[in-house]
Amino acid sequence: MERDNCIFCKIANGEIPSSTIYEDEDFRVFLDLSPATRGHALIVPKRHFADLFELDDELAQKAIVLAKRLAGHMKQALGCAGFNLVQNNGEAAGQTVFHFHLHLIPRYEMDEAGITWNPGTVSPEELQELVSLLSES
Ligand code: 5GP
Ligand code: ZN
Repeated sequence: MERDNCIFCKIANGEIPSSTIYEDEDFRVFLDLSPATRGHALIVPKRHFADLFELDDELAQKAIVLAKRLAGHMKQALGCAGFNLVQNNGEAAGQTVFHFHLHLIPRYEMDEAGITWNPGTVSPEELQELVSLLSES
């Protein structure tokens, strides 16, 4: 999606109102409208990047430091028992808004957020092949 028609560009830059819990010169953090759990928030850069591959390295670093800080605050304020950071890239991975965002998802005992996957299997040969394919020299 072009940035002119990008909903998160408009929210992050204040053109569309949101339930903002944090803002600085680089990011707006606001509550998700269809939350996985109570307090589910989104860290969104004010500049448009479609996904992690496009994201500026300096902002990537800032985003994770911000996530760490806000997660600590949420833990205190909401009394959550755990935390998921989720970041989807591409339709195949479940991305629906094509402006980079990092989900902050507080977790509670017995909540029904269901952020999980079915554990698969891998052979020793496939592990070796993957190591060859993925190792950076
Ligand atoms: P994705 O599936 O792309 O990783 O996540 C997009 C998230 O944005 C979803 O959790 C969805 O509920 C949230 N979302 C989509 N549109 C809006 C909106 O207009 N306002 C807010 N606050 N959240 C939105
Ligand atoms: Zn955008």
